Amino acid sequence: MLSNTTFIGVSWVNRWGLILQGVVIVFVRHPAIFLIFWTAMKMDKLSELLPGKTSTDPEDILCYGFDASGLEAPPAAVVWPHDTLDVIKVMKYAYANAIPVIPRGAGTGMTGGSVPSQGAVILSMEKMNRIIEIDEENLTVLVEPGVLNGKLQRELERHKLFYPPDPASMNFCTIGGNVAEMQGVQGQ
Ligand SMILES: Cc1cc2nc3c(=O)[nH]c(=O)nc-3n(C[C@H](O)[C@H](O)[C@H](O)COP(=O)(O)OP(=O)(O)OC[C@H]3O[C@@H](n4cnc5c(N)ncnc54)[C@H](O)[C@@H]3O)c2cc1C
Repeated sequence: MLSNTTFIGVSWVNRWGLILQGVVIVFVRHPAIFLIFWTAMKMDKLSELLPGKTSTDPEDILCYGFDASGLEAPPAAVVWPHDTLDVIKVMKYAYANAIPVIPRGAGTGMTGGSVPSQGAVILSMEKMNRIIEIDEENLTVLVEPGVLNGKLQRELERHKLFYPPDPASMNFCTIGGNVAEMQGVQGQ
């Protein structure tokens, strides 16, 4: 064991060596602490990639950590992409750093699908909410995934058309969530 006198006597290089050694010992004995540091560093980098569109604020971590299933787990961060390029940036970064990504519409799912796994980033699609094209001739629509089912229904009504899947949650669930949960395919 080193006494204080010995510690003061060692050179700065040795001192940093000792500090580093201490940090390594703490991380090896308590891997959870290492994981917290590692995740925080990765999320900081993610925020730099998408400034103003990423959050690790406690209130966001709380609000995006559950869906209507009642299951709950905190995400490492929440990202709100505004367009496809933002999604690409997130996915490339997540892939390179082995970070799980969980897409999320409105969180009304009852199967826990949008509840994050350990260290996961929530990719919230709510800002990607544009109806891009309604093709009356081919009876198809091109929409971003965050469009609310009810908004699409109302827009289609103006064209005397309708979108068959109409869950009770239509006014707050998204088309992305509808597709992922296969609404209108297996019955509702
Ligand atoms: C009051 C209430 C009434 C409901 N009524 C019905 C009903 O009548 N019929 C019915 O079938 N369901 C119903 N539901 C369940 C729920 O509304 C549907 O499952 C809905 O489709 C989920 O949409 P969401 O946007 O909330 O998706 P979320 O809950 O956010 O996500 C659901 C799943 O989809 C994935 N996901 C979401 N967006 C995307 C995306 N862009 N790309 C890839 N994956 C994505 C998520 O990762 C998750 O796995 C109801 C729920 C509530 C709370």
